[in-house]
Amino acid sequence: MPEFTMTIDGKAVKGSKSVGVINPATGKEFARVPDCTTEELNQAMAAAQKAFPAWSRDLEARRKVLNECAAALQSPPEGLARMLTQEQGKPLDKAGQEIMGSWYWLNYTASLQIPVEVLQDNAQGHIEIRRKPLGVVAAITPWNYPLMLGIWKIAPALLAGNTIVIKPSPFTPITTLMLGEILRDIVPPGVLNVVSGGDALGAAMTSHPIPRKISFTGSVATGKKVAAAAAPDLKRITLELGGNDPAIVLPDASVDDVATKIFWGAFENCGQICSAIKRVYVPQAMYAPMLEKLGELAKGAKVGNGLDAGVQIGPLNNKPQYDRVTELVEDAKQHGAKIVTGGKRRVGDGYFYEPTIVGGISDGVRLVDEEQFGPALPVIPYTDVDDALRRANATHFGLSGSVWSKDPERAAEVAGKLECGSAWVNQHLAMGPNLPFGGAKWSGIGVENGPWGLLGFTEIQVLNVARS
Ligand code: NAD
Repeated sequence: MPEFTMTIDGKAVKGSKSVGVINPATGKEFARVPDCTTEELNQAMAAAQKAFPAWSRDLEARRKVLNECAAALQSPPEGLARMLTQEQGKPLDKAGQEIMGSWYWLNYTASLQIPVEVLQDNAQGHIEIRRKPLGVVAAITPWNYPLMLGIWKIAPALLAGNTIVIKPSPFTPITTLMLGEILRDIVPPGVLNVVSGGDALGAAMTSHPIPRKISFTGSVATGKKVAAAAAPDLKRITLELGGNDPAIVLPDASVDDVATKIFWGAFENCGQICSAIKRVYVPQAMYAPMLEKLGELAKGAKVGNGLDAGVQIGPLNNKPQYDRVTELVEDAKQHGAKIVTGGKRRVGDGYFYEPTIVGGISDGVRLVDEEQFGPALPVIPYTDVDDALRRANATHFGLSGSVWSKDPERAAEVAGKLECGSAWVNQHLAMGPNLPFGGAKWSGIGVENGPWGLLGFTEIQVLNVARS
């Protein structure tokens, strides 16, 4: 059984305890990883703290190191994509895309500038706004895009001059540990530390006295715990949390034009994307043909082990999530919803759930009101666009949303009224390393990516020099 090491102070650490990792396509343990102890976490934090002064000194030296990291990720070791598929469940080609995306994000972020803004420079004085690193960053990631979401934190945190201790989800620790192994000899000791363990390790990181910032991606419930744990020490926080993204189809849209894009906006990564489409509002007149088309697409999607050729949708990543999606669909059935297609688990090993389209459902049912984070899409009829918009916004979530129409200007008007961080027209999941990504309301605090995300890893200093 393969084993992996943590990276602490530039060294491989096997750890004094280990824990198994399950392949969701088989439901069986296939690898073991360290279960970081308190002492090992303290070592990682101390190493990051010790490395900070030297690392924070020279932006161009940091950029050079990050460019070398990007080069290493551009030709990743054989087996990284397979490991990602085995620990996460996604199809192998998608695992390769996640690795290339991670490279792309890292490469872009390494090119960013950290601005010094001069507000005044005359005989009276000189005033400039500087951006200083914070210190040690504690980074915590979820299990849907472990590598990519890790890079979203590592790259800007390090470029800004911080050092980092990162912990992946216990469901998908392997590729982040491998990333540590790949970058270990490139990054100076202590600058990048990778530890693995369960939820308690995350909690220990957020209450640890050393980090000055917590960068967290995960659920709303855990995000609130992170915020509470950060408060007594006034640690800075960025929270990237859950979503319940609406897609609103306007009456002038054509089912044939939009259905496939909406389907994959919902079912990409088996629906396990924070900003996947989680509910669709469709004009009453278009309801029946839209259900039929989405149902056909769901039936036609190839579900299976991500290592098998041609598979488009893998298993759910873990047993709790498998149970949750099952529970939400059963609850919808009990509330009179109509299962157009799917609606059940696949017989056999692994956490496979049939791609499911649910009609005859509306707001007030858990599958619509909560974040399902899985392959079950509720489709809701409406008669009035303003009413659809009101229902789309009637939630604590506010990550992203989309509006679909033949008239992009009209759709943009409606999309602008969505209460969310990213409002898309005739597309969904449109992200880029140069675009800030974050949530309104309970979907988060702060943003990641682009210059905005980078500045989230800094603090302002006003340098104010009197000359007369
Ligand atoms: P989760 O909140 O259960 O876990 C996320 C991470 O937090 C894991 O590493 C976990 O071990 C750790 N953790 C758990 N309890 C903790 C605590 N008390 N203190 C500190 N850390 C703790 O989330 P998940 O189930 O892994 O991921 C799914 C969720 O993540 C969904 O809600 C999804 O929408 C969200 N998500 C958001 C984004 C975004 O960018 N907004 C991206 C991906 C996923």
